[in-house]
Amino acid sequence: MRLALDEAELAVRGGDVPVGAVVLAPDGGTVLASAHNEREAGGDPTAHAEVLAVRRAAARLGEWRLAGCTLVVTLEPCTMCAGAIQQSRVDRVVYGARDEKAGAVGSLWDLVRDRRLNHRPEVIEGVLADECSRLLTEFFRNR
Ligand SMILES: [Zn+2]
Repeated sequence: MRLALDEAELAVRGGDVPVGAVVLAPDGGTVLASAHNEREAGGDPTAHAEVLAVRRAAARLGEWRLAGCTLVVTLEPCTMCAGAIQQSRVDRVVYGARDEKAGAVGSLWDLVRDRRLNHRPEVIEGVLADECSRLLTEFFRNR
């Protein structure tokens, strides 16, 4: 999560909301990919940290399945990212702050743990939640 927080801070330079994500290999320690929000920087509505991290991890592995991998992200994923997470088949999602306004992993929806889906990753929330949300609060206060 510390690495994801470092990534989140990089987002601010491009004028993006500070959210960072990291994909860990099945060994739990190797970082396959990291990313931050680049929606403003790239003019891309889908350039959320999680989507970019999942894409980069898959590119590095040379296949779309991220079985055994863990996605760590500073903010609860939105519906789009929850969909990408589900499609990538990661085994575990770890996130920091809850997103009560748009969260799709426990707040407004719980897409990744919907029992109708055949792949449901484990979810661990609240890791360094205060630091993750403080970064967001400060960003919006400065705008
Ligand atoms: Zn998202």
